[in-house]
Amino acid sequence: MPTCQEVAEQATEYLEKAMSPRERLGVWAHLRVCPNCRTYLRQFMDTVALTRRAAAEAPSPHDENRLVAMMKAARTPGRTEP
Ligand SMILES: [Zn+2]
Repeated sequence: MPTCQEVAEQATEYLEKAMSPRERLGVWAHLRVCPNCRTYLRQFMDTVALTRRAAAEAPSPHDENRLVAMMKAARTPGRTEP
């Protein structure tokens, strides 16, 4: 099973199904037991959806760079310690 760090690094591949079934199963299994990564992935999906909507409304050469920057920022898993 992948670690939290690996799940965070593979979030894009997982959501775009750009990984092998074996890797997908590993991430899926991790998400079943790790609420932190489930929350992280949900936030990651929201970020991607928001960015895609924004890009569709106002297409410009800058949007792609912004998307990349947001994806990089979203790759850092949130800390949920008290
Ligand atoms: Zn995790």
